[in-house]
Amino acid sequence: MAETGVNAVWSLRRRLGLGLTVAALLPAILFGSALLWVQWHRDYQNLTASLDASVRLNAGLIDDFLESQQAAVRLLAENVSEGPGQDGTKLANLLHAYPAMIRILMVDAEGDVVTIHDARGRELPKLSGLGSGEEWFTTARDRFRPYVTNVYHRPAYGSEAVVGVSAPILSGREFKGALLAAIPVESLMRQSAESAARSRWDLLLVDRDNRVIFASHGLRFDVLGDAGDTGRALGRVAATADRPTRELELSGLLKDDAPALVEAVRMRNGWMLALIAPRQQLLAPLYSRAVLLAALLAVTLLCAMAVLGLQWRILGRSIDALLQGLRGYVLGGQINARGLSRLPGELKPLAHGIEELGVRMNTAFAQVQQVLGEREQVIAERTESLNQAVSELSLQSRTDALTGTLNYRGFREACDQVWDDPDSQPLAVLALDIDHFKRYNDLYGHAEGDVALRRFAGAVRSALFRSGDVLARPGGEEFSVLMPDCSLRQAMQAANRVCARVREADISHDDTPGGRMTVSIGVAAREQGDADVDALLKRADEALYRAKSGGRNQVSA
Ligand code: GH3
Ligand code: MG
Ligand code: MG
Repeated sequence: MAETGVNAVWSLRRRLGLGLTVAALLPAILFGSALLWVQWHRDYQNLTASLDASVRLNAGLIDDFLESQQAAVRLLAENVSEGPGQDGTKLANLLHAYPAMIRILMVDAEGDVVTIHDARGRELPKLSGLGSGEEWFTTARDRFRPYVTNVYHRPAYGSEAVVGVSAPILSGREFKGALLAAIPVESLMRQSAESAARSRWDLLLVDRDNRVIFASHGLRFDVLGDAGDTGRALGRVAATADRPTRELELSGLLKDDAPALVEAVRMRNGWMLALIAPRQQLLAPLYSRAVLLAALLAVTLLCAMAVLGLQWRILGRSIDALLQGLRGYVLGGQINARGLSRLPGELKPLAHGIEELGVRMNTAFAQVQQVLGEREQVIAERTESLNQAVSELSLQSRTDALTGTLNYRGFREACDQVWDDPDSQPLAVLALDIDHFKRYNDLYGHAEGDVALRRFAGAVRSALFRSGDVLARPGGEEFSVLMPDCSLRQAMQAANRVCARVREADISHDDTPGGRMTVSIGVAAREQGDADVDALLKRADEALYRAKSGGRNQVSA
């Protein structure tokens, strides 16, 4: 029962813990989630802004680089305008001054190769059909304009993919031929590729024909290969200046097919440069922040629980102190305020309330005690008067109302008292009977008889000298005298004294031989064989009978 009781008990501590956990967790989770979302959003914007700035910067750098290479080729073209075939040294010098160029090609006005030099100044074998139908040549011949080619590859001259920078050789308004310098994509892109790699981004450069000029290792494009739909999609991204409508997230770019954020820009020569950042880059810091937040949350919760536990112990101790004070309280005493000074402020009113309750209970207790005292006094007084009444009643019940002597009951009690009392031995008894009292009544009336009985009793009492002698009227006109510590002889003397006093009382009784009231007395003393007082009384009665039989007005033993 105790266990179910414990389970059913409403636990403040558990609820407080639960409430605290919910109160701490819920806002923390909401706030943390909002914080993470804001942070993620900001990271997203930062990353796209960085990508945007970086791709534009790199596009500008590559454009500037190409233009600088182009300017050098144009300058050389102006210097070799005297005629092809005599400028091998100048070509070699240019390659020396511009280390990015690995070959330079000179063609005549018909597009036939005049000479090809490599960076070491060597003249390379001429391949047929290098110049004439190609766009760089027609642009120089027809429009007298420099040109940057798309990417191409001449296996005969080396394994690397290259782009060409060309300029027309003019003599006045006459077209004499053209120069074409080959720059490996590798050296064109080295700086940009390194800077992108430092940010763990990938770089993609696509030419005007949607062919791949350069692709980082993480991308699934091949140099010189077609960039396909992805390249066209990037082209659309590059063509859209309005950022919100731009398609920034694309799949199918990375080798692992993971989604990526993309920024692309169209270069001055019509190429397209794209910077690609794996979307994972955004999530990684998010994970670490989430873990940090969770750890912070856990530490906060633990601290909150520890504080709660500590406060709970303080509360428990305070309640114990209150309980001890209460348990130590006895009515009329004082509630022990020990430890109450260390109670938390919130519990002080409770402690004071308990103390006040104690004081009020003491006041009530004192009032109850006072009322009880008064009641006890009244009860004692009533008991006293009742006792008096009872003893009066008891006396009355043992007293003969007519003569004031003991009645039969009183006489028997007196007999019982002295019978076993050693100080009362020897014990004697007188049995008295007024002679011819019936006639007295008949002669003078019953009322006069009563008066005569009172006078007779007075006469007998005057004949008894000892305080221990007990006079009784057991019934009618018969009297008895119990005489403790009295021998038979002393009792005989007393009986004769009684007869004399009755005579001396001189109570007239005309219907007797002497004309006055007389008495017959039987005397008996306690004997060895007497079993009880009745044996003694019986002998006294027998003696009385003898006195009556002997003529009345006499004493018989
Ligand atoms: P004896 O000499 O043989 O003793 O004769 P007696 O008449 O005295 O005896 P008896 O027993 O014949 O009569 C007793 C009378 O005592 C009868 C009764 O009227 C009277 N008596 C008894 N008690 C009272 C009493 O209390 N008051 C009055 N006035 N008379 C009483
Ligand atoms: Mg009689
Ligand atoms: Mg009589």
